[in-house]
Amino acid sequence: MTPETIAAEVLRLLEASADADYYGEPVSQLAHALQAAQSARDASADDELILAALLHDIGHNIDDPRAIRHGDVGVINHDDLGSLWLAERGFSSRLRMLVRGHVDAKRYLVATNANYAKRLSPASTETLIHQGGPMSIEEATAFGEAAELKDCLRLRSWDEQAKEPGRLVTPLEAYRAMIVTHLTDTARPVQQG
Ligand code: FE
Repeated sequence: MTPETIAAEVLRLLEASADADYYGEPVSQLAHALQAAQSARDASADDELILAALLHDIGHNIDDPRAIRHGDVGVINHDDLGSLWLAERGFSSRLRMLVRGHVDAKRYLVATNANYAKRLSPASTETLIHQGGPMSIEEATAFGEAAELKDCLRLRSWDEQAKEPGRLVTPLEAYRAMIVTHLTDTARPVQQG
């Protein structure tokens, strides 16, 4: 697989998700991904974080025997599975950590912020049950010390905003070159000295 063929595969999967509901939310899965990435762009996030926002739910879109599906909430392990799938294609460890963390960020916020749970959409509240519910104090303490905590929580807030029917976004095609550059840079050996 070259960076170009991987980018083509990712775009194809996201494109196909234009017909898929985003589990009880009023937008398609493609619109959800593009809106999350748009919020990252609007916040002047770096490209790795923008791509993590675009790809945070890719675990819902891949056809993988490791997927654990649950009725109308999709792939329950989409965070871990997405991260694994991206690892197999050479995406960076920071990007994968952000993708993997978007569900744990919800479990963290529910555990640490009393008002947060009230703001979750009905669908998101429903999936929380399947995702392990709020973190324990020990889990939340460990997660709160994660290196990428701040960006993880930013991604989580963009994820939650990305449910707005008709919002104008940068087209999917704009991310092809960004993915190719990301994969090329990630594969390059770290320069010493
Ligand atoms: Fe999402």
